[in-house]
Amino acid sequence: MARKPTLSPSKITTYLACPVKYRWTYVDDRGKWYLRSKSYYSFGSTLHRVLERFHDTGDAGVNTTEEVMAAYEESWIDAGYASAEELAEAYGEGREILERHVQQATAQPRESKTIFVERQFRHDMGEFALLGRVDRVDEYPDGTLEIVDYKSGRESVEVEDVATDIAMACYQLLLRHKFPGVPIRARIIALRTGHSAAASMTDEEAADFEQTILQLGREILSEEYHELTPVFKPLCLHCDFLPLCRKHPEFAEL
Ligand code: SF4
Repeated sequence: MARKPTLSPSKITTYLACPVKYRWTYVDDRGKWYLRSKSYYSFGSTLHRVLERFHDTGDAGVNTTEEVMAAYEESWIDAGYASAEELAEAYGEGREILERHVQQATAQPRESKTIFVERQFRHDMGEFALLGRVDRVDEYPDGTLEIVDYKSGRESVEVEDVATDIAMACYQLLLRHKFPGVPIRARIIALRTGHSAAASMTDEEAADFEQTILQLGREILSEEYHELTPVFKPLCLHCDFLPLCRKHPEFAEL
């Protein structure tokens, strides 16, 4: 039996940003030859890996600042930095971020407890399965489950940013299905400052969002990707696939 197609927040946001980019990333194998390492992905992956170990209650070896710094050194990913100076600067920033995070997390007894780190959730939407990997889920004494998402490039975050983020809405939907009747909240932490904001969907908003994802999913999965014409937009200037799109006879750069 054919496996059910899957959609994730990354796939959905890629499609919304540019369907042609979705083609080169997920549909057409040629795209993989054009992908380049990015320093911000390396930096984000490194920090996520260390924070996963710090918050994982099953990982007894990463609790103090010293242990976090040792885990940081072990987890560091070099790929994508333009120079040794850029890499050294990022490494220093990462140290500061982690030191502050550990300090904030250990300054006073926590009200909540972490129940999942880097956990994938899945929900069968009929025509496809919605998948989402959450950085962390904390449980509060009143039973609320809080999804925590780390943003390694951000310095600030507002409630509105959380409320309008497709990934955060997908995660809420996934946890709502996994834990029916349990209050679910989503929080983004801007790692560069430690600032955070949280929002949650009402039942009505969640039902509307589920319908939107269903319709969007149908559109994404039925798109005729090989017939799409790439359209130039500001995003193209930073896109790995620009050389591929330039080969299309109707691609006009402004
Ligand atoms: S270069 Fe532009 S049109 Fe082509 S995939 Fe990238 S964003 Fe889309």
